[in-house]
Amino acid sequence: MDYPNLEINCYKIHYNFQLITSILRSKNISITPVTKVCSGDPVIANLLINAGAEMLADSRIQNLKKMNNFSHPIPKLLIRTPMLSEVESVIKYCEISLNSEIKIIKKLSYFAKKENIQHQIIVMVELGDRREGVMPSDLIDFIRNIISLPNIKIKGIGTNLACRYGVIPDDQKMNLLSELAHLVESTFNIKLDIISGGNSSSIDWLLKYKGETRINHLRIGEMIYFGCDTLQKKPINGLFTNAITLTAEIIESKTKPSLPWGNRGESSFGKQKEVQDKGEVSQAILALGRQDVHVPGLIPPEGIQIISATSDHLIIETSGDPFLVGQTITFELTYAAFLFSMSSDYIYKTFSKNKDLNHHDLKF
Ligand SMILES: *Cc1c(COP(=O)(O)O)cnc(C)c1O
Repeated sequence: MDYPNLEINCYKIHYNFQLITSILRSKNISITPVTKVCSGDPVIANLLINAGAEMLADSRIQNLKKMNNFSHPIPKLLIRTPMLSEVESVIKYCEISLNSEIKIIKKLSYFAKKENIQHQIIVMVELGDRREGVMPSDLIDFIRNIISLPNIKIKGIGTNLACRYGVIPDDQKMNLLSELAHLVESTFNIKLDIISGGNSSSIDWLLKYKGETRINHLRIGEMIYFGCDTLQKKPINGLFTNAITLTAEIIESKTKPSLPWGNRGESSFGKQKEVQDKGEVSQAILALGRQDVHVPGLIPPEGIQIISATSDHLIIETSGDPFLVGQTITFELTYAAFLFSMSSDYIYKTFSKNKDLNHHDLKF
């Protein structure tokens, strides 16, 4: 085995996706899995298709491009609103995109017409997280400006919450989106097929809400891979939370004083916090560093603490048996750590189908 090795458990991702899909289907919500955290990896994209995905979503054209020659092509949704400079590729590699700028939609229309295809758009509405989207009061004027553009179909409206500011989807915001859908339909006498209520963070609201809603679609990433509620990072009953692990190898193991020796200046990564004197410690260096992974997103096994990290070294300590050179340590990851390690060329990726249940799975 080559290290560091990111192990992606396809069985668990498949399982999570199917379970989330079936729960939401009972509420008449369809979900589109988002592959951006795994760089649009074709193995994962294929497994999601096999698990029943009817559309795939990603934030990068480069990732969607990789999915272009699948044996069962399915529609692809670009979820970062397009750059003006990439519009031609958007038309080529995706059937549908999220949008919030008239100038860009006009250019999409131009190239869609040129290619003689229909491009579908979901107009994003800003509901408080202050990321992408048209302000609610501007939505009608916005649609009026694009409604008659050739080769553009307004497939729906959508919103994104809980990203920039962690703003929580609630009755007020979700009902406003439903009302806006009605308003657009009645003003322009059109039917909106998709009312996209957000990302993983919107599931909690949807499952609790008992009233009427027009929301019939979500774009889900994190919950499929991590089985967690994204707002509180709490495990969701029945989902696997450990589909992704990262294993690194120990290249040095020694007992050393915990305190540095000498006058200290700034370290390679800026100011250092005060060091606690723990006397002599059993420390090890792993061949893994900041160049590979978002270090705060590594979750070590019990009894092991991550002490610090440089570009290429991760320093850990244990209170248990001393580490051995050549020994490997397996970490669980957060979303951010998975995102970084998936896009690092230095990390090997293996796909497993292990159905083993370990202590984490048994928590449920
Ligand atoms: C990343 C993203 C998603 C998926 O978010 P998760 O929290 O991973 O479910 C959905 N929509 C948009 C616009 C995104 O950028």
